[in-house]
Amino acid sequence: MRQETKCIEGGYTPKNGEPRLIPIVQSTTFKYDTSEDMGKLFDLEASGYFYTRLQNPTNDLVAKKIAELEGGSAGMLTSSGQAASFFSVFNIAQAGDHVVASSSIYGGTYNLFNVTMRKMGIDFTFVDPDCSDEELEAAFRPNTKAVFGETIANPALIVFDIERFAKAAHSHGVPLIIDNTFATPINCRPIEWGADIVIHSTTKYMDGHDATVGGAIVDSGNFDWMAHKEKFPGLCTPDESYHGITYAEKFGKEGAFITKATAQLMRDLGSIPSPMNCYILNLGLESLAVRVQRHCENAQKVAEFLENHPKVSYVTYPGLKSNKYYERAKKYMPDGSCGVISFGVEGGRSAAEEFMKHLKLAIIATHVADAHTCVLHPASSTHRQLTDEELIAGGVRPDLIRFSVGIENADDIIEDLEQALKAI
Ligand SMILES: *Cc1c(COP(=O)(O)O)cnc(C)c1O
Repeated sequence: MRQETKCIEGGYTPKNGEPRLIPIVQSTTFKYDTSEDMGKLFDLEASGYFYTRLQNPTNDLVAKKIAELEGGSAGMLTSSGQAASFFSVFNIAQAGDHVVASSSIYGGTYNLFNVTMRKMGIDFTFVDPDCSDEELEAAFRPNTKAVFGETIANPALIVFDIERFAKAAHSHGVPLIIDNTFATPINCRPIEWGADIVIHSTTKYMDGHDATVGGAIVDSGNFDWMAHKEKFPGLCTPDESYHGITYAEKFGKEGAFITKATAQLMRDLGSIPSPMNCYILNLGLESLAVRVQRHCENAQKVAEFLENHPKVSYVTYPGLKSNKYYERAKKYMPDGSCGVISFGVEGGRSAAEEFMKHLKLAIIATHVADAHTCVLHPASSTHRQLTDEELIAGGVRPDLIRFSVGIENADDIIEDLEQALKAI
């Protein structure tokens, strides 16, 4: 099946007389005839469901669809994108370990790594995604357990060189984890470029309608944990809480990562989305391919309009020929990158603030990447406590406007921008 078809048909094929849509199994528990039957599930000797804190059939069918879209061997859903980022790293790194991460990642992920996970004893080295080979090499340590990057960084819109980072990670015997939220598997499939684990905030394009917060983790099934046994004891030595099974032996390359994340992390942390939310996410996934295509077409038109407007000082969008990442974006995302653009208006911070007041169609929201066009001026909202100097030091220009192009008619979006620019 091609991507458009997987969006509709992936994950679930109803048998004779079964519901056409993925059913909502809104039940915490599952009934068994004998304690022995249930015991086999607890020992991971049989697969099945016993408690929705760990696994639920609705969730698993939707996860399977996302895994198929990414070309992976197994997948799981989490209650948020943050939980997916955390699980993806914590499943293979523990206190005393170290991770190499791109410095250009989502702010929430940066804080999770740099503050919260440091408190848990995991160290991070952040490298510029365009750093030299020497700098990248120097970032690795004997206790490094993973490399982490974002296909298109939110909000910097830097395109990550997945193939290069995958080679570097593999030469050190560790997997590459990619957050593919902005590109979605419609535009980029990181596994085809060497990524081992792919994660998502499904809250963005996958849900696409501002309806549910969620996350997903997909395993490529390619990373050979047993070949680097000494680095990954959690996967390659017996788990005493499951009668001494060794995940990498029992479930192989294809199943070990997701089985461990479910059996240990979901069991202990319980970051599971509700079956109802997974059902809603699946409705979003059905139209993902057509929506993403429209987001990209609209964003291209909007970016070109802005680039030619005299009151606009700069535009950042990987689909523009003038963009630093144009060629790299063409390599990894030949059909388009994403619907998010950033730009500045002449006149700096105050002009940007004034411009925001005049927008009518584009709504002011902290959210991005969904059907509605929305806009954010960090300097007057999320980052308003910072001075211009502090903003620049943090990589956010005072006049920067983040514009998430929706799937309305592009002419209406452009007319809205045009009248707001005219007013300043
Ligand atoms: C929003 C976002 C996240 C965090 O996801 P939540 O669903 O908000 O927890 C992670 N990565 C990227 C790229 C995002 O845009």
